[in-house]
Amino acid sequence: MTDRIPARIIETLDREKPVRLTPAQAGGAIHTRSFTGLYRNLRLLGGAVLFLLYFGTLWLNWNGRQAVLWDLGTQQFHIFGATFWPQDFILLSALLIIAAFGLFFITVLAGRVWCGYACPQSTWTWIFMWAEKITEGDRHQRIKLDAAPWSAGKLLRRTAKHLLWLAVSLATALSFVGYFTPVRQLAADLVTFEIGMTAAFWLFFFTAATYINAGWLREKVCLHMCPYSRFQSVMFDADTLVVAYDAARGESRGARRKDSDSRAQGLGDCIDCTLCVQVCPTGIDIRDGLQLDCIGCGACADVCDSVMDRMGYARGLVRYTSEQALQGGRTRLFRPRLVGYAAALLVMIGAFVWALDERPLLSLDVTRDRTLYRENTHGQIENMYRLKLINKTQQQREYGVSLGEGPFELHGRRQVSLAPGEILDLPVSVTLVDAKQTQGLTRELRFEVRDLDDPASVVDTRSTFVAPAR
Ligand code: SF4
Ligand code: SF4
Repeated sequence: MTDRIPARIIETLDREKPVRLTPAQAGGAIHTRSFTGLYRNLRLLGGAVLFLLYFGTLWLNWNGRQAVLWDLGTQQFHIFGATFWPQDFILLSALLIIAAFGLFFITVLAGRVWCGYACPQSTWTWIFMWAEKITEGDRHQRIKLDAAPWSAGKLLRRTAKHLLWLAVSLATALSFVGYFTPVRQLAADLVTFEIGMTAAFWLFFFTAATYINAGWLREKVCLHMCPYSRFQSVMFDADTLVVAYDAARGESRGARRKDSDSRAQGLGDCIDCTLCVQVCPTGIDIRDGLQLDCIGCGACADVCDSVMDRMGYARGLVRYTSEQALQGGRTRLFRPRLVGYAAALLVMIGAFVWALDERPLLSLDVTRDRTLYRENTHGQIENMYRLKLINKTQQQREYGVSLGEGPFELHGRRQVSLAPGEILDLPVSVTLVDAKQTQGLTRELRFEVRDLDDPASVVDTRSTFVAPAR
């Protein structure tokens, strides 16, 4: 007997109805329609704050220098009153891990809100869309312009759009490079055409990257290039917030008169106006169900709410909800995975703050001279060392150099003054006070450097003392 593969009819095609492709399925440019609504306002507000931070922070000064500057020349990262050195990069790694866990937490809780509201790719794409709108008009005008033959008007509009895109791209690049090289000097060099080759290369690179990504590639970056969009779906669970179409309420979809009895006509609340498709920046139809291409921006929810208002129906046909809620259950906020991420996040943030607070603002390295030992003019055994001191603060500091317990005496400068960020190479020698103490042995000794303005701040480093066998 042969096994049968069970077959199931999943849909009966209505051959009378023309097949309507979404912009994503049709290919070509996606021309989104203008809309208003709560989520759009939230995105504008969030975007304004992020823009202010990105474009504004680098123009602030602190202690006479750019407040936030990753100085590649000196390998120092200044962020307001704090300076970080290459030795502190472990903190940067920790910060990146915390950011990753923060993203995991947000994704489990609220799906792709990062993509829809804060990701630079989508934020810059919205700005480029705005530039498109003010130069080429709203959706239908842009579609018409695309189809129209070349004319002076079309050339003018297209040129204006690309110039605006390039201006935004250049401002973005200038700001980005300005976080790595003093921005005021960079801007002045750019205006006077005295910019160096390296800075010019990076300015060109980031201008081109912004222009291509936000102007031409747009949703393709989210769909095909972004690794986060690929793996985040595995973090979703049935309680994760997603933008979804309430099919139970919306179907059967269909046009109707505003004051008609839709139930009597066998219609749900969806009037099949397709506005939700027309506003979607990734060109999909949310009514086809949860899709990998959806960046959770809420544009379709906004526009559908405005349609529901006009029809006199309740809002929320398209809304932020969970799979659980759509199936009639209750969305659980506290679930093991989410609590686990939250706990890990809290522990990591606590450890990071502690490590930041405990970070020594003085660095001490000790290198022993290659010469094993020598006998000085007093007949004492002497070892030579080089101390490398770094003042990691942003103030002038006085430091005291000493030795820890032991039968040793330190020779050389006992007190030094270092400018902010200064590195000092200090040669010192150590003699054995009591020759009987060490005979042919290697003995440990400890160098201490104390901040004389803040005696609690002290660092020490161990080294060895070598004496001959007698
Ligand atoms: S905007 Fe709302 S009513 Fe219009 S097609 Fe989309 S889901 Fe249906
Ligand atoms: S389907 Fe809706 S939420 Fe998803 S990307 Fe399109 S407009 Fe945004």
